[in-house]
Amino acid sequence: MRILLVEDDRDLQRLLKRALVDAGYVVDTASDGEEGHFLGDTEPYDAVILDLGLPKLDGVTVLERWRKAGKTMPVLILTARDRWSDKVTGFDAGADDYLAKPFYTEELLARLRALLRRAAGIAKSEIEIGPLRIDTRASRVTLNGSPVKLTSLEYRLLAYLAHHQGRVVSRGELVEHLYDQDFDRDSNTIEVFVGRLRKKLDPNLIQTVRGLGYCLANPDAPEEEKDRAKA
Ligand code: CA
Repeated sequence: MRILLVEDDRDLQRLLKRALVDAGYVVDTASDGEEGHFLGDTEPYDAVILDLGLPKLDGVTVLERWRKAGKTMPVLILTARDRWSDKVTGFDAGADDYLAKPFYTEELLARLRALLRRAAGIAKSEIEIGPLRIDTRASRVTLNGSPVKLTSLEYRLLAYLAHHQGRVVSRGELVEHLYDQDFDRDSNTIEVFVGRLRKKLDPNLIQTVRGLGYCLANPDAPEEEKDRAKA
């Protein structure tokens, strides 16, 4: 999952970026409203953490412009302003959640997980697909009850597919959501990582849909259910 963090307080930005990376997210950062708006406008993010008090362009304006342009990614607003009227302004501008400073990083991470689940239509923090179980709180994976050791990129790949289970995800989409903007992106590496995941998991869990991409689905589900998911 790729997150955009727009925060002008350098210390807070650094601290949050580290916490997000430790939690397994890919993070791009912006330190003012203009840069943040540009990134959110041009790059595909799974969620955005947006400070309201920003140089150049304030967070509410940034958010309003994204929504006006049809951007639907979940946005969590972060701000020192905790007056109720600011919350109303933020939600009306299109925010999905709100956190007033100071806050605990753990709460931010929990709210972010909830936003990502909601966007994916998943209600629980543990995702189950056939024999596979993904605990998104602890970034842990089990197969038929046994723990599976994954590298951080393998986990990110699996978690992304799991949040879009039953849908065909293209290699290009995976590259955009698994690497940050500075990474030298090569979609051939995705194939290598999918191969490794298949070896560590049930090889039938991740299907290749020729010419289109990959689809994570329960291999034991009835055929018509899988066909429906792919359609
Ligand atoms: Ca600020």
